[in-house]
Amino acid sequence: MCVFCKIVAKEIPADVVFESIDVLAFNDINPEAPTHVLVIPKWHYENAADLAASAPTTLAELFTVADQIAKERELDGYRLTFNTGESAGQSVFHAHLHILGGRPFAWPPG
Ligand code: AMP
Ligand code: ZN
Repeated sequence: MCVFCKIVAKEIPADVVFESIDVLAFNDINPEAPTHVLVIPKWHYENAADLAASAPTTLAELFTVADQIAKERELDGYRLTFNTGESAGQSVFHAHLHILGGRPFAWPPG
């Protein structure tokens, strides 16, 4: 089982900030910004494209949950990221949407 499937199964702890039938959101263990939350499907999909192909409604829910969390925190802006593939920085191969907020972000990203 992958690390995020273990979090869904409560085999390893996480700082959960939102949960629904299909989606879980928790604080990133190594935050890169004052708000750094990961929003994941509860079922295992390797990346965003696999999730889009198999469960588009759940993919859409990740974005609505992200916006809800940003509004609760009164973020004036936020960045959403799906890293896909090692060269883009993906290290956990269970689809996850990063919500980053609470500080300015450069563009283009590094
Ligand atoms: P990525 O590099 O895009 O695959 O993102 C994986 C993210 O998962 C990284 O930002 C890690 O800090 C985070 N992460 C890894 N293990 C855990 C964990 N057990 N709990 C919370 N976040 C984690
Ligand atoms: Zn998984």
